[in-house]
Amino acid sequence: MTKTKIPKTHPRAKSLQVREKVNEGYSEGIMTEQGLIAHGRGEAFDYLLGEITISEATVAIKVAAATLLISKNPIISVNGNVATLTPKEVVKLAKNVGAKIEVNLFHRTLEREKAIMKKLKSFGAKNVLGIGKEAAFEMNGLESSRRWMDPNGIMVSDTVLVPLEDGDRTAELRKAGKTVITIDLNPLSRTAQTASLTIVDNIVRAMPLLLEETKKLKNIENDILKDMIKRFDNKVNLGKSLSYIIKRLEKDSVIRVNAQ
Ligand code: ATP
Repeated sequence: MTKTKIPKTHPRAKSLQVREKVNEGYSEGIMTEQGLIAHGRGEAFDYLLGEITISEATVAIKVAAATLLISKNPIISVNGNVATLTPKEVVKLAKNVGAKIEVNLFHRTLEREKAIMKKLKSFGAKNVLGIGKEAAFEMNGLESSRRWMDPNGIMVSDTVLVPLEDGDRTAELRKAGKTVITIDLNPLSRTAQTASLTIVDNIVRAMPLLLEETKKLKNIENDILKDMIKRFDNKVNLGKSLSYIIKRLEKDSVIRVNAQ
């Protein structure tokens, strides 16, 4: 694989560094071509956000941390993009909130599952669920390979963190009574719209912040965390995230028109 040196002074250095990681994930057999396309869709929305963590995302991250901490059986569902972009944070977050980790793929092969498990283990994961025949249970209502669940993982969990998810599965997880937390740059995606809690941010920014937030909230009483969660309205927050993009575009187009 050819590695390109990104000059630190390049105006899009961060985004290009992430692309290098994506390239690596693809070469390691962790990401698929379809994953590359999904990443591109994410980049487009990140451009609209101005490639920053907006205040609505910061609030959602705090509530997500509280939700994971009060959950009895939380789990992080990992796909190729997540394992490529934030493997270290997945492992650390799981340890911090006592969550399990399960691999769940749309384009499912044993080789990819094993490559993802290897990556997560290289960052200290002890147990990675959902590999091969272990994912023996089917989720109702889904036809894609994402329907396969580990009986000790997602199936028995109460809260599922599913970054970069597809909408069908989010809806089915909700129907199964689970609290679904997602990280998705597109506030219009079906996942963003159907999750219990949506963080509209790039996973590479959101995961480290989520990790930090769980550290801060770890010793806070459950009643206080529950109150925080009760006061949060996901639909309102999602609407504000979309408004942020619209206002930013309006402002930007005014600048461009005036400059002509
Ligand atoms: P849905 O089924 O929910 O409508 P979709 O079909 O648009 O979603 P997929 O292709 O399944 O989406 O998954 C990609 C999703 O992940 C997109 O919504 C994209 O914006 C988002 N995404 C891609 N890269 C990132 C990233 N680095 N951080 C956060 N979100 C991302």
